[in-house]
Amino acid sequence: MQTKTLFTRIMDGEIPGHFVYQDEHLVAIRDINPAAPVHVLVIPRKPIPSLAELEEEDAELAGRLLLAVSRIAREEGLARGYRVVINTGEEGGQTVPHLHIHILGGRALTGHGTA
Ligand code: AMP
Repeated sequence: MQTKTLFTRIMDGEIPGHFVYQDEHLVAIRDINPAAPVHVLVIPRKPIPSLAELEEEDAELAGRLLLAVSRIAREEGLARGYRVVINTGEEGGQTVPHLHIHILGGRALTGHGTA
């Protein structure tokens, strides 16, 4: 059996997570080490390793993920704007090998990084 990713273990309740949304396709949890007042991770249940491994068959899921980002940002009160980040691969700074979208907001974000 393949080893579960950290995020799959959170989805399965093996590790605690602060869920802000979940459905059959994806979950959203608060980042344990927030880089902004609002820092939510939107994560597909399917353990796609990174954006680089996204495939044609994931087209609908990719759309669901973006729609979830938009809806959650609205629910989190980020009407003044927010940043969406997908760290990808080693040089992209990805630390958890399970595709996830960062939503960062609640303060002015400058430059192009997540900080
Ligand atoms: P990345 O560096 O893009 O792979 O992002 C991984 C993110 O997962 C980081 O922002 C971490 O703070 C976050 N993270 C790591 N462990 C947990 C956890 N147990 N619960 C919530 N977020 C986590």
